[in-house]
Amino acid sequence: MIDQFGRNVDYMRVSVTDRCNLRCVYCMPAEGVASVPHEQILTFDEIARVCRVGAELGIRRIKLTGGEPLVRRGLPELVGMLKGITGIEQVTLTTNGTLLKEQINGLVSNGLDAVNISIDTLHPERYREITRGGSVEKALEGLDAAAAVPGLSVKVNCVPLKATGSNLTGSNGTEEDDEYIRLALLAKEGKADVRFIEMMPIGLGKHFAGRGGDEILGILEKVYGKAEPCTGRLGNGPAEYVQFPGFRRRIGFISAVSHQFCGRCNRVRLTSEGYLKPCLQYERGTDLKTLLRGGAGDPEIKAAMEKAFYEKPAHHQFGVNGQPGENSQGKSCAEETLETKEMSRIGG
Ligand code: SAM
Ligand code: SF4
Repeated sequence: MIDQFGRNVDYMRVSVTDRCNLRCVYCMPAEGVASVPHEQILTFDEIARVCRVGAELGIRRIKLTGGEPLVRRGLPELVGMLKGITGIEQVTLTTNGTLLKEQINGLVSNGLDAVNISIDTLHPERYREITRGGSVEKALEGLDAAAAVPGLSVKVNCVPLKATGSNLTGSNGTEEDDEYIRLALLAKEGKADVRFIEMMPIGLGKHFAGRGGDEILGILEKVYGKAEPCTGRLGNGPAEYVQFPGFRRRIGFISAVSHQFCGRCNRVRLTSEGYLKPCLQYERGTDLKTLLRGGAGDPEIKAAMEKAFYEKPAHHQFGVNGQPGENSQGKSCAEETLETKEMSRIGG
């Protein structure tokens, strides 16, 4: 459906859990987050109901996320349920990949259309450091398993970190630039599109400096030559893609901070606790769980979702290029309460 600023909201990111088997430094505290009791998390039937009503409002693509979605038992079954909804054209997944090898067949046989795998570095020691104990070998096994499935769209997502002071998890030297040069090889070899995502000041991300897309492009062009911009719409989201000479797949950049793309934002988010969030940065949302569990009928749920979609804020205020904008209640974005939860709780 079209929101108050003329944007077509057709994409919903659905978090299925706030739990994760990793502890990425910019996403989760070392001790993890206090897990939400199981009964507070939406059941698969409840998620499917929200998605069915969402499809009636024009949602066409669903991305399953978390936390780590693959720690939730039975995820392939949910993929099948969502693929069976009239109007839903695509169900995709974002994962750290470490549990993917074991689950890829079940996911694909239930209709999964695409998978994004988050791998910030191929260097085993640095990966362990960033994820606080994860194994890049396991993530790469997941990537290989996904890349071997004919017709499955596979992307690798990397959030480049800048080193600051004693923080060893970032990179900013020429030696470390090698990280991104090596990751880009995955695209050269044709295993996956590789996308570099700017760190957003959300949750723990506020304490880390990222490296911008323009900077990473410069690093890659020194090695791989001049990249040509890809034109036309590619994928569901805001990534800008380029093609390097001799590469079989593309390199993408998602630069929410340095190149704000709110004017064409098409997404809303459903948290694992059933909170419908129209914008990542603001706390505001609609408590669908209370409606779902309070006996509301579909028309009531639809009306609540329609209002949330319509009132999507004009833009985030991550700091650059933000223009004042208002929602339909005449409330300026600057007056919105900012989100304080970690990314794993929001559903990144
Ligand atoms: N566990 C899954 C994964 O890692 O792909 C799904 C959830 S995770 C929150 C989704 C994506 O959000 C990951 O690619 C992660 O790197 C990214 N992310 C987390 N915090 C972020 C932040 N502050 N800024 C930008 N991206 C962030
Ligand atoms: Fe887990 Fe993904 Fe957050 Fe890393 S980015 S801690 S894998 S939810």
